[in-house]
Formats: sequence, C-alpha cells, structure tokens
Amino acid sequence: MVDRLLIAGNWKMNLDKAGAIELTNALTKSQSTFKEVDVAVFPPSLWLTEVGDLIGSDNIKLGGQDCHEELEGAHTGDISAKMLKDVGCDYVIVGHSERRTNHFETNETIKKKVLVSIQCNLCPIVCIGETWDERNKGTAISTVSFQLKESIPDELDSHQFIIAYEPVWAIGSGKTPTFNDIEEMHSSIKETILTINPKADKVRILYGGSVKPENAAEIFNLENVGGALVGGASLSATDFSQIISIAGAKN
Ligand code: PEP
Repeated sequence: MVDRLLIAGNWKMNLDKAGAIELTNALTKSQSTFKEVDVAVFPPSLWLTEVGDLIGSDNIKLGGQDCHEELEGAHTGDISAKMLKDVGCDYVIVGHSERRTNHFETNETIKKKVLVSIQCNLCPIVCIGETWDERNKGTAISTVSFQLKESIPDELDSHQFIIAYEPVWAIGSGKTPTFNDIEEMHSSIKETILTINPKADKVRILYGGSVKPENAAEIFNLENVGGALVGGASLSATDFSQIISIAGAKN
C-alpha cells in the first residue's frame, strides 16, 4: 500500500483569473491541515503561473491538465511538458476521458505523453476507465486492462507515474460504482501494472468520479485506493479541504 494519499483537484476549463486566485487563496488558508496528505491542483493552463505563485509552499503542488506528446514544435495551441515544468508543475494529467473523447486521444498518444512527461521530470497521472456500456456488458475490467497495457510504458518505478481509475459514466454525474466494484477494479489494475512494471508495486492508484465529502471516507478505506482525482468538488474550497481532511484522518 502507498504511504500517503494524493488528493488532486482538476479544475478543468472553469474559473476566470479572479476565481482561480480566490479559490487558491481559500485553499492556502486551510493548508496547515494538509500535512498528512499530498495535495495538488490542476488549474487551466493560463492561470498556472498565478496559482503557482500563490501556493508557493510544499503543501500544495501544481499540475497541468494535459501536455503534447512531443517536447516542442509546430503544434498551434498545444502546451508541452517542458513548459509545464518551467512554470512550476510537478504533475500532469494525461488521457483524461474528456481528452480521449473530445480530442480523439488514443492509448498510443497517451503512452507518448507519459514518456515525455517523465523526460521533463513531471509525474503523469494516467486516466483510464470504462464507459457505462462496457460496465453493463461486463467488460469493465478487460477494457481497463487493455488501456493500461497499451498506454503505460514498461520499466517504470512506482514513484514515476500515477494511475487514476475514472469510470467515464461516474465523471460529473453524481454516480459512483459500488465500493466492491471500485475495490475489484483497483486490485485488477494493480495486478496488470505489475505485469507491465514489476518494480511498480507501490504505484498510487487514485479513484476519480463524483468524489465528494459524503463518500470520501468510504472510498479512502478501500484496499489499493491511493487517493482521489476530484473534479467538481475541487472547485469549492470547503468541499476540497474537507476531502483532504478525510484523507488525512485515514493516514
Ligand atoms: C474528473 O473529471 O476527473 C472528475 C473526477 O470529475 P468529477 O469529480 O466532477 O466527477
């Protein structure tokens, strides 16, 4: 099992500059309670510098919501892993289901993003997860195993990457899998990861999809859950801080 839980807040394409500053200020006020937990925020890339300047502490880390699979070049509108590192990021989310769906990202592209992130000293949070249809058909586990095998490079150590299991149907819907289903999936993810990366026995596997203060304690108590990737609830300083405190109480 991992030592500390990671609570990661994905702000997506929300908040104007004033809103991002306000949320960051509210979080930094509570950060003395974040000591037992690793915390990271993923603001829209335009606000990374402002948010990074405000957090300026070891208690909250900064991450990008995506990066290009190449280090630099003619890719209008894209952001590189190197640029994210340059503005102070430690993490980057890759393969979020919204990127897979809206930008047609394939496992092959995601694997390249993982490699370029590691090359730039960023820790990639690789998102995987089944659709509602796949869950209903009974193919959730095989879908996720396939995504892992195709998108995770081999020869990685536990600290070099993070997995986020995010059932597509649970994102922003208020629905979650049963706790048994989450536990079963996390244990299967761990098994698959070990076949790809035998040295990654301590890899963190986050759960994501409608995590809230109301369900966080039960989720964090499940075996092989190493934290949460939080969308909607990370836009409220109160809810996000509460989720962090719940994670801290578990450690
Ligand atoms: C997400 O988009 O990564 C996510 C988990 O969103 P939400 O918490 O809103 O379901």
